[in-house]
Amino acid sequence: MNTEKKVRVRFAPSPTGGLHLGGVRTVLFNYLFAKHYGGDFILRIEDTDQTRFVAGAEEYIFECLKWCGIEPDESALHSGPYAPYRQSERKPIYKGYADKLVEAGHAYYAFDTPAELEEMRSRFKTDENPSPQYNHLLREKMRNSLTLGNEETQRLLAEGTAHVIRIKMPVDEEIKFTDMIRGEVSFQSSQTDDKVLLKADGMPTYHLAVVVDDYLMKITHAFRGEEWLPSAPVHVLLWKYLFGLENMPQWAHLPLILKPDGNGKLNKRDGERLGFPVFAMNWTDPRTNEFTQGFREKGFLPGAFVNMLALLGWNDGTGQEIFTLNELVEKFSMERVHKGGAKFDYEKAKWFNHEWIKNSGAEDLADKVVAAFADKGISVTKDKKLEKVVALVKERCTLLPDFVQQAGFFFQAPVEPDISAIKPKWDEKKQLFFAELIRTLELSTLWEHEDLEKSFKELAATQQLKPGDLMLPLRIMLVGGKFGPGVFDIAAIIGKEETIHRIKYVLGLL
Ligand code: GLU
Repeated sequence: MNTEKKVRVRFAPSPTGGLHLGGVRTVLFNYLFAKHYGGDFILRIEDTDQTRFVAGAEEYIFECLKWCGIEPDESALHSGPYAPYRQSERKPIYKGYADKLVEAGHAYYAFDTPAELEEMRSRFKTDENPSPQYNHLLREKMRNSLTLGNEETQRLLAEGTAHVIRIKMPVDEEIKFTDMIRGEVSFQSSQTDDKVLLKADGMPTYHLAVVVDDYLMKITHAFRGEEWLPSAPVHVLLWKYLFGLENMPQWAHLPLILKPDGNGKLNKRDGERLGFPVFAMNWTDPRTNEFTQGFREKGFLPGAFVNMLALLGWNDGTGQEIFTLNELVEKFSMERVHKGGAKFDYEKAKWFNHEWIKNSGAEDLADKVVAAFADKGISVTKDKKLEKVVALVKERCTLLPDFVQQAGFFFQAPVEPDISAIKPKWDEKKQLFFAELIRTLELSTLWEHEDLEKSFKELAATQQLKPGDLMLPLRIMLVGGKFGPGVFDIAAIIGKEETIHRIKYVLGLL
């Protein structure tokens, strides 16, 4: 791998909506590669298609990276030596490159109106070729500088006639490059159409802008989704025509993230259909109000999300599955990126989150747990009690909202305790035991787990009852249901007054 120059990679999203997990994985692989080689990670906003502008999409991208703990070294927010990092603000840069291509005969002016293009598509449509393209064959039949001649072209340009600049794809040329993941890939030039490079509004298309900016920003390696592979021959040619091939970034086209059954690319409809998030964070499309659920709001920890994504298409070869972002940076290698698509498995994603919750310190989880309670309208304070609670129940939580279910009773007495679980076996002896327990607890000056367990067991022994038969009733009294950590741990945390109050309350119901 050529990493003699300082590694500079870019994530270059078009801000047209929320970030799909495939997009975040592209960010991640860019970042891991850059940081592994001590390089720079650049975020460039590719917003040259004004018709696809979506309010809030750029902010979403920045917030998403922040949530994942992936800070760009240079971006529209972080600035840097190659600013601006938003292509719409770089508009004046591109035209000169397009003109240069025209002068050298690698591109041409095309004056066809939308109606003429439409007419061409229907005129040349056949069963074998249902959507004819503006290519090396059809350009001969259209209104462009190749067919009109110089004089007419100059006249139209002087009159300000609307036009675009298209690349003149060579005929029957083999275009080859070495992809970091796929090895050598080769394309037949005649199979690609004459893509528009500069639009009638003077804005470049993605194809021209990506090449010019990768050059100007000294990008050394370009990671992007596999769906961009068909565009690669155009980019390689532009690199050749404009800059010689020498400084062209090494391309890496990342395999797709597939549906759980392996049948095609995972998309947001799959998430809706199968009930799991597909975007990094919640997203509501401002144009349609369509809502797509995010991993963040579903209750994933950013570390777990990033860890899960890294393992969708990469591993370190040892079987290790849990990695922090720093470990990923250290271990990441292109050689271990898979060539095939990675099937998305939501159960496995949850497994990662569960592991991360289990392995996180209570202190680190506390803020997120407070937020999970707040989401359900319950206000809890971030204090020592909360940390104890988190430490006790975290093993039982897969997603952050699970804390509310698993630990809500620490903060609110159960409203409807499930007495049906104990009622059938309830008797006078148990009633007496708990009445006596209340008296013992009222006199107790020690309130630690061990003391409570000891007095509970001693009292059971004096009354010749099996402690095992009394534990479930105590749990129902304190928790409200048949779940939760050890009952004496619970009593120790909720405190004397509350424990006695809850026992009395349920005794009154039985
Ligand atoms: N703007 C392209 C996108 O939205 C970027 C493709 C590339 O990285 O070259 O995905």
